[in-house]
Amino acid sequence: MRIDGIRTWRLRADLSEPFAFSQFEYARRETLLIEVSTDEGGAGWGEAYGPAAPAAAAINDFLAPMLVGLDPRDTESLWHFLYARTLDHGQKGTLLAAISALDIAFWDIKAQAAGMPLYRLLGAGYAESIPCYATGFYFGGSVPLEEKFEREARLYLADGFRAVKMKVGLGVERDAELVAAVRRAVGPRIRLMIDANHAYDPVAAAALARRVETQDIFWFEEPVSPLDIEGYLYVKRATSIPLAGGECEHTRFGFEPLLRRRAVDFVQPDLCACGGISEGLKIATLASVYNIHATPHAWGSAVGQAAALHFYAARPRHPASLTAEDKMIECDRTENPFRTAIVKTPVRFERGAWYLPQTPGLGIEIDRSALENFQL
Ligand code: CA
Repeated sequence: MRIDGIRTWRLRADLSEPFAFSQFEYARRETLLIEVSTDEGGAGWGEAYGPAAPAAAAINDFLAPMLVGLDPRDTESLWHFLYARTLDHGQKGTLLAAISALDIAFWDIKAQAAGMPLYRLLGAGYAESIPCYATGFYFGGSVPLEEKFEREARLYLADGFRAVKMKVGLGVERDAELVAAVRRAVGPRIRLMIDANHAYDPVAAAALARRVETQDIFWFEEPVSPLDIEGYLYVKRATSIPLAGGECEHTRFGFEPLLRRRAVDFVQPDLCACGGISEGLKIATLASVYNIHATPHAWGSAVGQAAALHFYAARPRHPASLTAEDKMIECDRTENPFRTAIVKTPVRFERGAWYLPQTPGLGIEIDRSALENFQL
């Protein structure tokens, strides 16, 4: 089997209402999908997390020409080939997002060729579904945030979620008020996580953590800059709330110090950024050495979502115990037509859980005519 073409699809969709988090506002969604075709007629799909234009350029103008004629099932060899070609110029960021998209597409092809859903090819036994947590409670809009968040909380509870994650980053005082409001709205039994998207310095992050400790926070995500491991450790010393992070990190080399120093209690590689399935597996294995739970960050289209689900389903139980398994994957609830409108059958979501696609490969069927509606 040989790669005979790599096509990039830059997608854009305007949102009905903009939303914001601590770093910037979104008025539209954009993503980059890639389609790798082979001489045997099949196609595999991948996605790059982050700005679509530079990732598309990295693939079209640099990486894709090197790949034509190679066997896409050689995932490990191809990953190292691509990484070796980019190492001198981009160990993180866009070039890794481009490699991630290619790697996911190669795994999609390999699993289709094997006639297995990807998670089975990765070595997992049959799995039906994975519980997820709702990512929402963003800023923006004309309604007071307390009111907006109460309404959202009701929706998530009605959808069967047992865990929700809210944004923070509006200043310690305001955050503390909103965290209390969301806790009141969801009640005491729902897991509540907070995510600052690195809006704080260590002192402010520690102050916020102490302020919300009584609200039973399951984790505090990206309290400080992803570059500031000492800052993570400072926050950890100041609070009993576990820390999470990793969506801005890439490759096992980037994750290693974060894990070795126990800067995070939950590590969150994004499969569409960290280096794809191949590298995600290495990062998760490394995390297991340090007894740290790896749960993917997932904010993309149906392609990225399926990649995260298959990857997570194939992770071994950790730690071992007789009690029910405690897996939990991110479920972005912000407006994103690329989750549903570009596939013939969206990944099934029911009562707070994603159901694993059981057809070969990623198990999603892209609707090319729908893609064209969003293509730039
Ligand atoms: Ca996050």
